[in-house]
Amino acid sequence: MQLRIRLFGEMKCPKAYRIRDFLQRNGMRFQWTEIAGNEDAQLHTGLDTLQDPRFPVLKIGNHTLYAPTLAQIVHAVGWATVPAEPRYDLAIYGAGPAGLSAAVYAASEGLRTVLIERFSIGGQAGSTSKIENYLGFPEGISGAELASRARDQALRLGAEILLAAQCVGGRIDDGNFLGLLDSGETVLSRALLCATGVEYTRLNLEHEERLLGRGFYYGAGSSEASLCRGQVFVVGGGNSAGQAALHLASRASQVTMLVRGPSLKSTLSQYLVDRIGLSPNIEVKVNCVLTGIEGGASLEKILYRTLDTDQEIEVDTGWVFVCVGGEPQTKWTDAEQLARDAAGYILTGIDLLQKKAAPLPWPLERAPYPMEASIPGVFVAGDIRANSIKRCATAVGEGAAAVASVHRYLSSIH
Ligand SMILES: Cc1cc2nc3c(=O)[nH]c(=O)nc-3n(C[C@H](O)[C@H](O)[C@H](O)COP(=O)(O)OP(=O)(O)OC[C@H]3O[C@@H](n4cnc5c(N)ncnc54)[C@H](O)[C@@H]3O)c2cc1C
Repeated sequence: MQLRIRLFGEMKCPKAYRIRDFLQRNGMRFQWTEIAGNEDAQLHTGLDTLQDPRFPVLKIGNHTLYAPTLAQIVHAVGWATVPAEPRYDLAIYGAGPAGLSAAVYAASEGLRTVLIERFSIGGQAGSTSKIENYLGFPEGISGAELASRARDQALRLGAEILLAAQCVGGRIDDGNFLGLLDSGETVLSRALLCATGVEYTRLNLEHEERLLGRGFYYGAGSSEASLCRGQVFVVGGGNSAGQAALHLASRASQVTMLVRGPSLKSTLSQYLVDRIGLSPNIEVKVNCVLTGIEGGASLEKILYRTLDTDQEIEVDTGWVFVCVGGEPQTKWTDAEQLARDAAGYILTGIDLLQKKAAPLPWPLERAPYPMEASIPGVFVAGDIRANSIKRCATAVGEGAAAVASVHRYLSSIH
């Protein structure tokens, strides 16, 4: 039976947004109640004022959590954040499509497997309202649903999943890989798969830190669509921005896409170009870049520049979703030892034997296995891998293929 989950807080409170996003992306059904003043606060939570630092309040079954951390939420719903085993055959970092698929295959093929995720099951794919090009789902499937199905499948086949567990570093310990989690826990494994994907590039605008989660967001806003009022802006011209615009347009009265390039056609799949063209409440402004955001307690206006006329335009709005570019999430790996390409993506397999891998050449006599990184026994799958195709299906395929290489590696070290 699913626990009843209720969240109470201020509409544009960054902590409440993070919890909404976390619950939504992890497939946990919840009821959101906006607390607009002290009377509401007393009525719903027993706290005297909305300024009480114990907001937002989360009620899970009979438990009440005040301004909870993600790890506290995970505990309260009965999921794991710390490893149960002293050592695993395979530790997979990142539970996007690549990591989930690797967990399914590795566990089903008898490897003791742990999957470690810092935020939500499904990764980028889990943030999208609808994936329409994934094989076997002719009507499309929401990212959260695909992720929660994959999670159930991985668990059923015997993988262990740690949620709200961020890997912050690691080292090689007597031939094993030791991952250090932000909780201070460690994970020991004979082989390691890095599937930590990419994250949207930060624009680093003035006031960004202050307004983040207060009307200014990175990502597709799947948890926020039902709350949006008035005119909403989506920044970006790629598939993720196009999907976000369509999803937001189903709720908001007007959605405006700000696109840096001269048209959507070169950056967006044709089915999305067609859908956007048919949506009466989506406007596309090409040759435009977001240059500023302003507001007090929350976002109130934005500034954008038109590249062809070099004009700066100011518009009142309380909602902006930024979906531009991606940066590989490699900070937690050892930059000294993993060979990367110029953009920071991790080189694997035969790419390591090319000149571009220098000064970190492949150290063994044998050739690297497919998807093996410059440290033998470390494998890489999905968007974070250099030269990968940035798609859900390819990430899933790479996760499965990496497990085949893990088996070869584990047999070679017996
Ligand atoms: C909004 C949006 C819509 C999309 N729509 C489509 C689509 O319709 N079709 C399609 O084919 N593709 C789509 N994509 C692309 C697709 O989602 C990605 O190619 C795919 O998710 C890549 O999978 P991945 O497993 O490599 O990485 P990711 O999905 O990026 O997952 C990586 C995971 O690693 C976690 N992580 C990162 N660092 C750490 C750490 N230090 N410790 C623990 N965990 C960590 C992250 O939190 C994340 O969950 C979309 C992407 C976005 C953003």
